Amino acid sequence: MQIKSKLPDIGITIFTQMTHLSNKHGAINLSQGFPDFDADPKLIDLAAHYMRHGYNQYAPMQGVPVLREKIAAKVREFYNATYNSESEITITGGATEGLFAAISAVIHSGDEVIIFEPAYDAYAPVIRLNGGIPVFIQLKLPDYHIDWDKVKDAITPQTKLIILNSPHNPTGAVLSGADITALKTIVHNSDILILSDEVYEHIIFDGHIHESMCRHPELAVRSMVISSFGKTYHTTGWKMGYCLAPAALTREFQKIHQFLIFATNTPIQYALADFLDNKDAYQNLGAFYQQKRDKFLSVIDKSRFKALPCNGSYFQMLDYTAISDEPDYDFARRLTIEHGVASIPPSVFYHRNDDHKVLRFCFAKQDTTLKQAGEKLCAI
Ligand code: PMP
Ligand code: GLN
Repeated sequence: MQIKSKLPDIGITIFTQMTHLSNKHGAINLSQGFPDFDADPKLIDLAAHYMRHGYNQYAPMQGVPVLREKIAAKVREFYNATYNSESEITITGGATEGLFAAISAVIHSGDEVIIFEPAYDAYAPVIRLNGGIPVFIQLKLPDYHIDWDKVKDAITPQTKLIILNSPHNPTGAVLSGADITALKTIVHNSDILILSDEVYEHIIFDGHIHESMCRHPELAVRSMVISSFGKTYHTTGWKMGYCLAPAALTREFQKIHQFLIFATNTPIQYALADFLDNKDAYQNLGAFYQQKRDKFLSVIDKSRFKALPCNGSYFQMLDYTAISDEPDYDFARRLTIEHGVASIPPSVFYHRNDDHKVLRFCFAKQDTTLKQAGEKLCAI
């Protein structure tokens, strides 16, 4: 039997590959982005409570009202943005489902979508599945900033969507006020939509502020903003997120969402709604992860790796030019197998091979894990 693949050049994701390799060789896994510490026991107790008390059937397709109301209140307080909990908020099966639904909701055959490389792996395949054309623009090293002149040049009458991700995976770059100004100028008087992947919204360092699309009314009217409870509450395995978008966009978003998943986990939605009252959990997250970043930087300080700037997310890019001239994929595998530390080779986030000698390390780990990894990295 012949199966004609819809994604012939796509294999198993790098996250699955590297975690598998890491487990196989008993390495310290700084590859796939997830914490090696647990969520707040209060949140676990809340989830158990709702499971034990009969909240175990389908939630409404959009999400349970109380969670949508709590999100609306949080976004109002945090970003001074008003989203109607009835018509402008959808609870999704992680950010991944939200991204898929958002792209599928607006991309028609032949539409062009601007994405910035290195790009998180979930964007381009979904654009292609919908007949869209990814238009790739490379971020500029060493701080991986956007060259807005290149964006201006890439805009055509077919440009339908720009996908942004700040704080950025894999580079840790964050959008600045100047980026927002440039973006406003570019989309002004156009029909270009924005998909803003803001899953690391609270993981931002050194006094930077998160430039959510929500903060800027002229951008918010054309934006679908995606976030993830997995990152904020150390629960990546729960796969819970949400999408904020104006009502007309939310209507189209929900047409796809209802057939992708219909609704997400009911008891966990109630648990998250209660837990959102605890503002410390997200307000202190930046400081918490800044300490992790600094711990990681201190334990690799004596190594031959060179740290690139990291202003947010829980990833640190390390340049290994002084150690090897192998391509990053080969070096990441060898580092895992021979030296016991797994990382992610960012070349997989480019459509064409790039030859930067850089690896991505996840520092969402206990200090003891970071210390052990540091010892191994210093020995190379
Ligand atoms: N976007 C980015 C930039 C991510 O890093 C991730 C997960 N690490 C996701 C989306 C997916 O989030 P979720 O696990 O909630 O589906
Ligand atoms: N987003 C996580 C990362 O960047 C992994 C998500 C996944 O495994 N698909 O590491």
